[in-house]
Formats: sequence, structure tokens, C-alpha cells
Amino acid sequence: MIVSKSATFCSLTKPRLSVLLFFALFALISQINGTHIIADTIPEDDPNIVIHVVQRGENLFRIAQRYGLTVSELAALNAITNPSSIMVGQRLIVAEGNQSAVTAPPSAVHIVRPGENLRGIADFYGVSVDELMVLNDITDPNRIAVGQEIRVRREDEAPRPAPAIVSDAPLDLPESQITATHTIQRGETLFGIATAYGVPMSAIQAANGITSASRIFAGQQIVIPGAEAQISVNGGDLPAWINEIALNPLVLTEGKTGRLIIDTQSPATITGEFLGREINFIAVSGGLSHVAFLPVPIFTEADVYPLRIVLNGAGVEESIITLNIRVNAGNYGSQRLSLPEDQMHLLSTGVEENEMNILRNVASRLTLDRYWEGAMSLPAAAAMNSSFGARRSYNGSAFDRFHSGADFAGAPGTPILASAGGRVVLADTLNIRGSTVMIDHGWGVYTVYCHMSERLVNIGDTVRVGQIVGLVGNTGRATGAHLHWELWVNGVPVDPMQWVRERFP
Ligand SMILES: [Zn+2]
Repeated sequence: MIVSKSATFCSLTKPRLSVLLFFALFALISQINGTHIIADTIPEDDPNIVIHVVQRGENLFRIAQRYGLTVSELAALNAITNPSSIMVGQRLIVAEGNQSAVTAPPSAVHIVRPGENLRGIADFYGVSVDELMVLNDITDPNRIAVGQEIRVRREDEAPRPAPAIVSDAPLDLPESQITATHTIQRGETLFGIATAYGVPMSAIQAANGITSASRIFAGQQIVIPGAEAQISVNGGDLPAWINEIALNPLVLTEGKTGRLIIDTQSPATITGEFLGREINFIAVSGGLSHVAFLPVPIFTEADVYPLRIVLNGAGVEESIITLNIRVNAGNYGSQRLSLPEDQMHLLSTGVEENEMNILRNVASRLTLDRYWEGAMSLPAAAAMNSSFGARRSYNGSAFDRFHSGADFAGAPGTPILASAGGRVVLADTLNIRGSTVMIDHGWGVYTVYCHMSERLVNIGDTVRVGQIVGLVGNTGRATGAHLHWELWVNGVPVDPMQWVRERFP
């Protein structure tokens, strides 16, 4: 499915050290549950002091970003030793004395979080939806995306006194939060990750105790601080009985798998749709938590796509939520391959499609039990010599095919190992993949082992992780002995190495 792009992304704007008197005004008129905050130790009438009253859903990072401070500067101003200990209603000094000028506006860019809409963002910043649309070249207000940067006023314009909604509306909304973690992939840099999430690199470093941006490693799990806890501020659309929506990562990538976890206050049934496919939600914790995998097919164009979620539960109204999800290109590169004359017939589109359909039909079934735990194991004691996703040209054809798995260069006869526990659902000799075994791991996750010289399991067998399921060979469309290993999620082949490096869910 291709949706036309109607939103633009402006470049990351670094928050400047700056403070505005209007925020003092806002802070002083803030109310919590209808009760005025009475000054205790902080003198309200000192014009050199600017105070912010913590709203539900805010954290120190967002407050610091808003006033152009770092978390440590804000913590130091308020003698806070534990940044996660701030409370709703707490009064924070965000500027004092001659610390900063009052002329420069704070960050004029807002980063969209799951559950936010343009109306809520406009209200929050005291501008109209029309103004935001003009400022950001937005033609359809319903098509803003999670992670998108929205310019909330012109660079040269001072912010307007913000509206009453800042002081009370957020407090009527449910206490929900969005959390994001990111597992670092090989080849990623901290700068690239920060750009993808639209948060400052220094904030990611501070939140994860990373002292040097070069000291990160593939597989490392980090938290993305700017992604936290914004849903309650502008999330007017979020039903009260949803406790949390966690999308990991916030920006998806072609060929990779995202996870979505929704927690509800009462047992729910959830269905959804993304990229033209139904999403399978697995209910755990007695129907209070729901896990879904979001596989992004290769050739999905970098763009913004709607993720539609329908929630039903006893005694509550049906809730329909749309999150606009950004998908980035996978940048998997390209390969030119040559096949010998006697394999040329295997390049026919019909042969390839038939075989994809055989695998897709099996991999689209949903087993509600889960047979794996954490990350997948490597399928052979052999080096990977060709990764997933590369565009492929065979014998000079167009680059209209892609590598649907990862290749391991094992000598003929090398044992092939089950990546996780499961049940054998296919053991057959196929035209292209040759002698093939497919294992169902549950929850819509399957692994496929191809080009085997020998199969050592049969359909219906239960296998455990590390069990030998066959031997490396070169049956089918292969240019030499190797293991071609695939991983399918809900009927879509995705990068299997992501499932080795990261723990799912
Ligand atoms: Zn391969």
C-alpha cells in the first residue's frame, strides 16, 4: 500500500538556552484539579524567577527541553538528585536572575508522540490548526506522523501567551505513558539514532550514561528519553481505559520488525491493520496486555503510514485509534548474481511467486502459544556471508528481487540448528529453496532453512532450540553450498538477524 506523502519533516532544531516570561505567567495561573497552587518556598513575585508547575505526563527531560535547558541544568537549579522523582504539581525553577535573556524563544519545534493530533498540539502551543498547517506545509491535518517535527511558530516570532488548556485540560486526561527503547543495530551511530527519533543526541547520552558517542555496540538497549510520557499532554483521542501504548522503535524500518504493546485497564479484544495487512494481537496477562509484531515488507517506500487499532471490551465503548507511523528505508544495498544456464528457468516470476505463496500460506497461520524465549539463536556455526534485504539482479535483469534471508557459508554437511523451539510445519523440496524445513515458533513467527543436502526432521515434529534439523547443501537455486535462513512474521519475510540481536517481544 502506498500512501501519498503529505507531511514534511524539517531539520532538527537544537533547543537554545532561553526562557520566556510568559511561561512564568502560565506557571502562576496553573491549577491542579481546580486548586490554585499556593507559593510556599518559591517567591512568585520575583520577576527574575520563572517557575514551571509539573503537569501529569511530563518528565524532567521534556520540561528541560521546553525551556532550553539540559536535564542536569534543570536538576541543579532545583537541587534534584533523582530526575525520575518529580511529581505532578511540583514547582520547578526554570530560570533565575541573570541566567539567561528573555528575548529568544524556546524550541519552536514539537516532536509528535503516539496519540497526539494536530488539534491538541495547536491548543497546547496556543496557535490554530490552520497556522500549523501553513507553517509545516501540511495539506491533511490527519496525516501527521509519530516522530514528525512540527514547527509551532516562525523562528522570528515570540510565543503567544498560552491558553487555559495548558493549565487544566491535560490533568483531566488518563495517566498514560509512552515509553520507547531502541536496540542498536550494527552500523548505526548515536547521531543517526538521535536524528531518527528527533531528540538531541546529548539527551540520549545523558539518559543512558553514555560518555562517548563512539562507545556503543550492536545489541545494546538504550532508552529514548524524548519519547516518554507525552500522550497525556495532547492525547485527547486516547480512551481512558488504555493505560499504555508502547511502540518500539517509534520509527520503523523497511525489512525490520516493530513491536507494539497495549495495556488496558480491563480485558480487551484488539484488532488492527498496518500496511494493508491485519495485525495479530496476542492477549497476555488475562487480556490486560496485548502484543503485536509489525513486520515491514521489503520495497515498502519510506513514508508515513496509518496504523489502525480497534479495541473492544466489556462495558466500554469501542475505541478506534489511528497512529501515523513513519517508515524509513532499509538501505540494504544491491547485488548482481549470475546463475548457470541449467538454473535459468528458476528465474521465472511464476516459479518464484508460487514458492513465495507456499511459504506465505504457512507463515500466515497464527499459533497462540509461544515456543521461543528472548532472542533467536544462530542457525549454524558458520559465518554469515550475505545479509537480508539486498536488491538483486540475476544475469543482468532489473533489481526487482530482494534477498529474502541471511546466508551462512557452511561447508557441505555442516549441521543446521533450530533457532528456537517450535514445531516443524513444512519439510519438502522446493524449486528455488531446495530441500527446506520450516518451523513454527508461535505468535506468527516462523524460521525457514533452505538448500539442505539432507533433512533430519519431519513435518509435525516438535524441535528444541539448537536441535539439528538438517545439513548444509546446495539444492535448489544456489550458486554453491550454503544455508539460506529466513524469518517470517505474520506472513512477511523480515531481517532474521534483528531477531538474533534483539529480544522479542
Ligand atoms: Zn540466501
